[in-house]
Amino acid sequence: MEVCRIDDLDVTINREGSCEFAKVSYPIRYGRYSEIRTPDYRFQFNLNGEIKFIRGLDKNWPDPLEWLKRTAGNDWVYYSTGGYSGVYDSFGEYYLPCPSYASNATYVNDPFENNAVGSAITAWTGLQARISQMAFGPFPRNIKDFLTLAGRNGPNVLATKARNLHELIGGNITVLPPDTRHVDYEVIPIIVADSCLYRCGFCRIKSHQDFSPRTREDIKKQIQNLKAFYGHDIKNYNSVFLGTHDALNAGHKLIMFAAEKAYEAFDLGQSNIKGANLFLFGSVDSLLNCDDSLFDSLNSLPLKTYINIGLESADKNTLDIIRKPITPFMVEQAFTRMLEVNRRYERIEITVNFLLGYHLPPGHLSSFIELTENRLDKPYSKGAIYFSPLVNSGSEQNRGIVRKFYKIKALSPLPTYIYLIQRL
Ligand code: SF4
Repeated sequence: MEVCRIDDLDVTINREGSCEFAKVSYPIRYGRYSEIRTPDYRFQFNLNGEIKFIRGLDKNWPDPLEWLKRTAGNDWVYYSTGGYSGVYDSFGEYYLPCPSYASNATYVNDPFENNAVGSAITAWTGLQARISQMAFGPFPRNIKDFLTLAGRNGPNVLATKARNLHELIGGNITVLPPDTRHVDYEVIPIIVADSCLYRCGFCRIKSHQDFSPRTREDIKKQIQNLKAFYGHDIKNYNSVFLGTHDALNAGHKLIMFAAEKAYEAFDLGQSNIKGANLFLFGSVDSLLNCDDSLFDSLNSLPLKTYINIGLESADKNTLDIIRKPITPFMVEQAFTRMLEVNRRYERIEITVNFLLGYHLPPGHLSSFIELTENRLDKPYSKGAIYFSPLVNSGSEQNRGIVRKFYKIKALSPLPTYIYLIQRL
């Protein structure tokens, strides 16, 4: 760590954050980063000199324990404590990430409507212009290097970089698996297959393309380009997301190829953050078509694999209404397979999603309760169930949905949380 005072700014480079992702109820940073502290803000930068976190220090900031984070896709997300009123019970985390774009959030107050939050982003723009000048000053070599990097990464450059990220993987990541919350959504995305099998009627993120796996050449090229894209900051990543909506259907060989190549190329074993992870989505069909050999292979990797399956409902009426072309029998089989894989494989966790809606038929919840009651004789900590709200934020119905969620949670023998959709 190196510190330098420049006028009213405290510049610290190479700060060391936690080397493990943790669930804590106070601001925490991971890996290594640099910081510029002004009288009013703490601005924190990743190892490429790109702004990553902002925390207000004056009395206007909504809460001294809350902060703003900028993602690799160049979105701002506000981390709210939610007053700590039930955030952990609902989401499995102490902080509620509130993205600056429309999502499926059930909270009513949008933090981006608070002037202090907008002002913080504007203050960073002002600081960025100032540091690009400061980089010419007579400062120690490492400080100058950091200022030069940070001075180059203005708002337009960061917006272009985010576009480049999506171009180099050949698509947008419209949704991350809920399990990526375990690594604060910090994943390097590689697309192994585009689109999904079903194109369900209710789904807002579906692609109209047919499901199509990428070639090995394409995956290799993505990995090479991603390594260059993440640059120095790649050391702060320990996780990969294989996209997009049904990577499990890409098949044993392609999944293993991508996972092994990424682990090696990104040097995940030497990350600043311990414990490498692999995240992917699967579908009912892709899970039922997987034989044990894929799970045996995944379990032997030096990373933990999380596979999230969209079941949505075990009720025929609901599946018809949401136009998901699967049957309750398939949902039951997939659920049983999830339980079996979770018991057998130490380094694999399959999790599932169900919908949570105000107007869904009563059979939706009763079939869920039946599904879990019939298969589990006691509570288990592995194999989370996520309920994804079918809502627009801000409505009175959202409160009703949250109440409904708590009723289900109380009856569920598995860890049960709300799924907050976030993109990358
Ligand atoms: S819910 Fe999943 S499977 Fe259905 S259309 Fe959307 S992405 Fe595809």
